[in-house]
Amino acid sequence: MQLARRYSELRDSARVHERALFPSQRTPSELELQARWFAGDFGRKFHSVTGDEIEIVQFGTWNREAGPDFSDAVVRLNGGDAVRGTIEFDLADRSWETHGHATNSAFDDAVLHVFVQQSDRVFFTRTKSNRNVPQVRVDLATLPDKFSANVPLARPGRCQAPLKDLPEERLVSILSAASQFRLQRKAARIKNLVDTHGRDAALFQEIAAALGYKQNKLAFALLAQRLPLSFLRKEDDDIEPMLFGVAGFLEAPDLAVYPQETRAYVRKLWDRWWPHRDEMQRLVLPARIWRLSGARPLNHPQRRLGALATLAQEWPSFLKSLARRNAKTAQEFFLGLHHPFWNLHYTLTSEIAPKEMAIVGESRIAEILANVLLPFFLADGRDIWSAYEKLPARLTNRRLETGATRLFGGDPRRPRFTKTIAQQQGLLQIYEDFCLQDNSDCAQCPFPEQMQHWK
Ligand code: SF4
Repeated sequence: MQLARRYSELRDSARVHERALFPSQRTPSELELQARWFAGDFGRKFHSVTGDEIEIVQFGTWNREAGPDFSDAVVRLNGGDAVRGTIEFDLADRSWETHGHATNSAFDDAVLHVFVQQSDRVFFTRTKSNRNVPQVRVDLATLPDKFSANVPLARPGRCQAPLKDLPEERLVSILSAASQFRLQRKAARIKNLVDTHGRDAALFQEIAAALGYKQNKLAFALLAQRLPLSFLRKEDDDIEPMLFGVAGFLEAPDLAVYPQETRAYVRKLWDRWWPHRDEMQRLVLPARIWRLSGARPLNHPQRRLGALATLAQEWPSFLKSLARRNAKTAQEFFLGLHHPFWNLHYTLTSEIAPKEMAIVGESRIAEILANVLLPFFLADGRDIWSAYEKLPARLTNRRLETGATRLFGGDPRRPRFTKTIAQQQGLLQIYEDFCLQDNSDCAQCPFPEQMQHWK
């Protein structure tokens, strides 16, 4: 892993932020205005309603989750230091209050409130912690007439031009270096977890978090911490009822809400959970921790919990599959997992699916391999880079697409730089180390120049 050391030197010698746009197919007026804001159509230098000079150093990233419209934005007030935070764009200034932002801590780091309509009465934008947020009113009359519906995912960065002329081998080499660096960091983290909690508990916690995906990672991590593997394994027949009970999925024991053919399964879970309920009540997760919307039905957390329960039940076989420190046998173990209910259902209340589904699919297995098992093997002293670099990428995500747009823009070679998990991980590392550290809209980012010298 020589390359990892070189990448580490490269990032140490630098220190240098930004992101993306996700246009909706439907473009409601506020969304279109936000898109035009992000595209810079309103300009980037403004006066706040109180007369301060506001410069948008970076427009940040579209935030399509709960919270402000744009995150990781950078603004400068009266020529002072660049300040990073979120930007909220509303049609009316008072929306800040009517939409509950003033009492929502997700808006605590807002650095700017932008709106089109200003109330007749003075309105202050204040965060939950009572901080005053600068306000900018934008004028629709200043907008250029034309608006391209073809809004890019993110803006290509300054390095797009030089990288376009670099030989492919050099780009592949830097991606490998960044990927090896990231892999080593994951291995160190897992080693630390193993040292702290022991091998089995560490692996169980990490796989649980991976099964939670991004939206429910915290809930799954909490479950694996509150119901440690060693405890679950002593309650063999009750592993699944306890996981579903502590997850809070057995709180409404009204069987009438379940389809007929599901009732026997839920009844069994419920009957076995009930004797534990009183003593474990304080561990039950609050319903608000679960993010149940937005995920594909196949990835519903209840299905993933069924997979976690099956893994806990099959733990000895899982360990056996790891004995060879080989990605293929671990993959075969996960593909072989079976659950009579969850192979055929999306949620506890869904009808039976038309055909059987794997309880852990190939793309999730690839993520578990890349983020947990291969780093674990590496921490255990195995040379796993050749297996790692062959893992094909099966998924992409917003962060990756943004990173690829920032670095490669429209370079036709771009798909070739994101086709393996290793390349994707390398790209994410560069994006996090350079793009997300840059407060200068690329101007002072050293990455493009450093690439010229990378051999
Ligand atoms: S911040 Fe640096 S690495 Fe990111 S796009 Fe700009 S120049 Fe490239």
